[in-house]
Amino acid sequence: MTDLNQPAFQKCADRPVENIEIDTLVVGAGQAGVAMSEHLSKLGVPHLVLERNRIAEAWRTGRWDSLVANGPAWHDRFPGLEFDLDPDAFAPKEQVADYFEAYAKQFDAPIRTGVEVKSVVRNTDRPGFTIETSEGVIQANRVVAATGPFQRPIIPPIAPTNAKVTQIHSAQYRNPQQLPEGGVLVVGAGSSGVQIADELQRAGKQVYLSVGPHDRPPRAYRNRDFCWWLGVLGLWDAEAAQPGKEHVTIAVSGARGGHTVDFRGLAHQGVTLVGLTKSFDGDLVAFQQDLADNIARGDENYLSLLDAADAYIARNGLDLPEEPEARVTYPDPECVSNPILELDLAKAGVTSIIWATGYAVDYSWLKVNAFDAKGKPQHQRGVSSEPGIYFVGLPWLSRRGSTFIWGVWHDAKHIADHIATQRKYLAYRDPSQRQAED
Ligand SMILES: Cc1cc2nc3c(=O)[nH]c(=O)nc-3n(C[C@H](O)[C@H](O)[C@H](O)COP(=O)(O)OP(=O)(O)OC[C@H]3O[C@@H](n4cnc5c(N)ncnc54)[C@H](O)[C@@H]3O)c2cc1C
Repeated sequence: MTDLNQPAFQKCADRPVENIEIDTLVVGAGQAGVAMSEHLSKLGVPHLVLERNRIAEAWRTGRWDSLVANGPAWHDRFPGLEFDLDPDAFAPKEQVADYFEAYAKQFDAPIRTGVEVKSVVRNTDRPGFTIETSEGVIQANRVVAATGPFQRPIIPPIAPTNAKVTQIHSAQYRNPQQLPEGGVLVVGAGSSGVQIADELQRAGKQVYLSVGPHDRPPRAYRNRDFCWWLGVLGLWDAEAAQPGKEHVTIAVSGARGGHTVDFRGLAHQGVTLVGLTKSFDGDLVAFQQDLADNIARGDENYLSLLDAADAYIARNGLDLPEEPEARVTYPDPECVSNPILELDLAKAGVTSIIWATGYAVDYSWLKVNAFDAKGKPQHQRGVSSEPGIYFVGLPWLSRRGSTFIWGVWHDAKHIADHIATQRKYLAYRDPSQRQAED
């Protein structure tokens, strides 16, 4: 066995994977894996990162062509490197992927790409875990699952099996040219759904957008981006979602230089808004009568942020220009005041459905006792109930910001600290052991 815990073997990016023994294995080299590697490196923890594709592959190939970061470049980054970009601009997805590659290079992260972790099992005859990879078996004392919050696209079971339409998940959407001629129903109005609906409408397509409950912060208010507002108001650091709002999606956009997502504005532009998609019967789709409520709750969320921002400015005596026009709304469009509850897709000329309905995690490779009865990771700030197993990058892992670029960096620091502390305990020798070693 190659013992990577010996300093001479700590840099293992170029070594064969098979037979490696390492203190900590990190699975996945997206932003979460890169952040883990940075903190483990700083703390001198021997580790290896295995990535089945390339560094930050999700940013490179897992999203649509025109996607830019939802937050400005000054905000959506790690502390140790700035984007080569106007700090108030929104980095295109390729540039985000390049950024994480450059970041990993900066500290010579021990990342092996093109290696898939197939299973992790706790050893019964020795401490640690046996890890089966696509390039052989390795041993590790600890495993950090950094495989991302968005692994398996979810298409809800209501999706029609007998309608004559093309159906894709937002994860497969690339650009308007990919879709057949005709209209599109976009189901889901979080950041992905609204941005895709907007792009398709601007490309000349008839678009129906199915809108559920959502949060809708202003892109910017009184000369500050919403990322700044959520920061100073402590909302990125909120430790738990409000009960009942755990899965409420947040509709923001950095597209076209960044703009506030305004559903009435989208409707005036030509998008037909509908309520939550309820069911399909062949080509006939039924929508819930909740559109006006969903829009109203999104407005409440929007206005509550303006109020909190005004109060913060007053409290702190900041000199930021007033912006009364931010409180002016378009009148309700016809599709909101008189919503469509049923649509015959064929008659309406709708030939595609895009399911912007989110993702699930997939830990089928992690065969350890770190999950609850529903298969959800059991952990406290990423430290799982199975000693030696850690999760990073999950929604609300420690706070609202946990899945976002800057948030995962802080969570990774906490987990690396935990690992380093455990290693220190294990390195303790009592007097008799010390004497025997002398
Ligand atoms: C459309 C979209 C836009 C987003 N925009 C923003 C934004 O603007 N700003 C922001 O802060 N956040 C954004 N996010 C949220 C988040 O930043 C990204 O989803 C980010 O990619 C998550 O990083 P991650 O490292 O946790 O997971 P991922 O980027 O998914 O990385 C996980 C890695 O693990 C690898 N992997 C998985 N299984 C295995 C295995 N068994 N063996 C080896 N490797 C494996 C995968 O190949 C992948 O590279 C966005 C998310 C989406 C979906």
